[in-house]
Amino acid sequence: MTVTRFAPSPTGYIHVGNLRTALFNYLIARKAGGQFILRLDDTDPTRSTQEYADAIKVDLEWLGIEWDRVETQSSRLDRYVAAADELRSKGRFYEAFETPTELDLKRKKLLNMGKPPVYDRAALDLSDDEKAALRAERGDGVWRFKLDQERIEWADGIVGDVSIDAASVSDPVLIRGDGQFLYTLASVVDDTEMGITNVVRGSDHVTNTATQIQIIQALGGHVPNFAHHSLLTGPQGEALSKRLGTLSLRDLRESGVEPLALLSHMARLGSSQPIELRASMDELIEGFDLSHFGAAPTKFDEQDLYPLTARHLSALAAEDVKADLDALSVPSDKQSAFWNVARENITTRKDIAGWWDLCVNGADPVVDDEDKDFVVDALAMLPDAPFTDTSWSEWTAAVKEATGRKGRGLFMPLRKALTGMNHGPDMGSLMPLLQKIKAKG
Ligand code: GLU
Repeated sequence: MTVTRFAPSPTGYIHVGNLRTALFNYLIARKAGGQFILRLDDTDPTRSTQEYADAIKVDLEWLGIEWDRVETQSSRLDRYVAAADELRSKGRFYEAFETPTELDLKRKKLLNMGKPPVYDRAALDLSDDEKAALRAERGDGVWRFKLDQERIEWADGIVGDVSIDAASVSDPVLIRGDGQFLYTLASVVDDTEMGITNVVRGSDHVTNTATQIQIIQALGGHVPNFAHHSLLTGPQGEALSKRLGTLSLRDLRESGVEPLALLSHMARLGSSQPIELRASMDELIEGFDLSHFGAAPTKFDEQDLYPLTARHLSALAAEDVKADLDALSVPSDKQSAFWNVARENITTRKDIAGWWDLCVNGADPVVDDEDKDFVVDALAMLPDAPFTDTSWSEWTAAVKEATGRKGRGLFMPLRKALTGMNHGPDMGSLMPLLQKIKAKG
């Protein structure tokens, strides 16, 4: 069975970059009829909070990304202890005592010599006595995984064939001096024990994957299928990392972006398939294919989400937005007519209120100088509310007759006088909803 996971660290709100990872893993699991796990990578107790864990769930729920179960790394520490013992017993784990400053010096030296800054494994040569002395002096060391220095290869679901020379990578630290398990160990233990079959994550994890493959093999686990999606950039190709804070899912939600607009965009962005607005998660699942994604950086422009949001909303029926209309106290018998007028003229749900306000309270008229007399005369011919389906055509016919104006010169000043805008819904449909004409005083 296909089992995937989305593994955020609850150290902040999730953003569009995380969403890509979550969505791909979710769609793969659902398309295969498999399972999708939400795994909270919370081994760092100083940075992980319950508040962020809850927020991640709220954001995923908003999008309709449903998980089959939640796993929490902080509750699985005994598993990581067992894995560490196993690596130790297999001679793949060693304690190292260099301070961060010492490591930094070593790195700089290598870089100066034009060599890759790979840890020199000096700790492997320490005798038991030397280790005991260092431990007494500096406290417990970190634990590093001893990589087999050979090429690590895998067929990546997006990048293609990857081959990394393990000799060019430092032996990864899996346990810190204070005993905290690091993501790499926790992640491979979980992936193995939870039967994860497919891992999609950002291309910033490619080197991690190389080391993780060796750790999984050392622990006798099954290596999942890995795929690394490109990282998002801004519209100009600029790094998005600094701006991601403002592209959190909650910010987008507050800006009025619709879940299906966002999901439709992210399910295709960076692939060779066109972005298509989908009406349901089922359609997204159906139309998803990881093999169409490319490894090149993917440009993301938040502004692209708004036309999709508008199109999504315009396709909804009044019943679909009943809660919004009720919240604005749009009477039930007017909801359908009002929605038909509003839905083509909004970008986000937030714009609905403006149209209802116009219906109830009228709009401040906009009248150009050259139309002043014309508008005064026309308004004198407009009966009082309530209006009907034919009010607009009857009124404008009468005004045409009386003034000789026609076409745009007739209709536009009247639209602007009634709505304060030079664009908007069909006036014939809007009129029966207008309860007040401010221009009439
Ligand atoms: N917690 C890791 C991250 O957010 C998970 C990476 C992975 O998918 O393995 O980057």
